Amino acid sequence: MRIGVCIARPGGKEVPVSRLATTLPSGFLPMLRHTSDRRTALWAFVFFPAIGFAPYVEPRVIPWILPLSLYFGFCAGVFSHNHNHSPMFKSRRTNAFYSAWLSVFYGYPTFAWIPTHNLNHHKFVNKAGDATITWRYSKRNTWLVASTYYFVSAYWQAGPLKEYIAKAKSGNPALYRQIATQWATLVGVQFSLLAIGWLTHGWGRGTLVWAFGFAIPALFAAWSMIFINYIQHVHCDPWSEHNHSRNFVSGLGNWLVFNNGLHTAHHESAGLHWSKLPAAHAKIAHLIDPALNQPSIFGFVMRAYVLGALSDKFRTKQVGRAPYDPPGGGEVKLETAGVSAVEAGVNASMA
Ligand SMILES: [Zn+2]
Repeated sequence: MRIGVCIARPGGKEVPVSRLATTLPSGFLPMLRHTSDRRTALWAFVFFPAIGFAPYVEPRVIPWILPLSLYFGFCAGVFSHNHNHSPMFKSRRTNAFYSAWLSVFYGYPTFAWIPTHNLNHHKFVNKAGDATITWRYSKRNTWLVASTYYFVSAYWQAGPLKEYIAKAKSGNPALYRQIATQWATLVGVQFSLLAIGWLTHGWGRGTLVWAFGFAIPALFAAWSMIFINYIQHVHCDPWSEHNHSRNFVSGLGNWLVFNNGLHTAHHESAGLHWSKLPAAHAKIAHLIDPALNQPSIFGFVMRAYVLGALSDKFRTKQVGRAPYDPPGGGEVKLETAGVSAVEAGVNASMA
């Protein structure tokens, strides 16, 4: 795969970013659990702040930098997700630091993934009990439903979040300290970044450089994670062994988003490191309904929402059995399942 970004020149030769991990000296970043996360570290610790500060250094890059900022915002969401399933570092303390660091770029404390995603969404997979069900108010998949799903999902995630925080507060002081640290880091760092903008560029332009550098990408990070959760499950069959999720299988797309498109394999082995998802997907790809292996997210969005607005034939159709149609029949209650007290001790950085 050709990626047009070259960032190192050992011996005068350019090295594509995609090959960087294999060309670094052995033992580089030995605190990582997986060597493939050298690229994650490059994105998180170099590109995230570099793109964030670019408008501070040269305000004229606004708004041209927006596509890059949104891309890195999306990656901040992906990294928060990955880190909560499979912690990036060997040490508990470094994992806690990374969680707080990511919280700044994700725009929300990353612990939130544990109660609403790991302990809830992965358990119920868009069936009743899942706080993030795609079919709560509408069973149709239109751009209006998909783009506003953020507000529905965020509202209904508040219940398990509050419950998790309350249980941590009463029974797990170490976890509660981590939650408080993530909140304090997020709020403290974002306000400091805004203040740096004011000090260097004045009130108006200072607010603008902060907004384009850090605030909009962070807001997009949370919105895009909820959006992708929607399109990865809407009109899928949660009762089926392999048709419970929609995949986006393009190689370049998955390189860019750290294999976040391979959602079936992720659900079937949630703790599997992102770098191992392509091999896991290859084993089950032929068992997945072809409609649920979409080439790219952009193609899907164009077809389902742009062409779909013109004609029904481009919209998604329910594959197999709908989540609100249990095989045994019976009433479907839309209550979100509780987070158990025991589970409230589960946290990536506590590993
Ligand atoms: Zn997950």
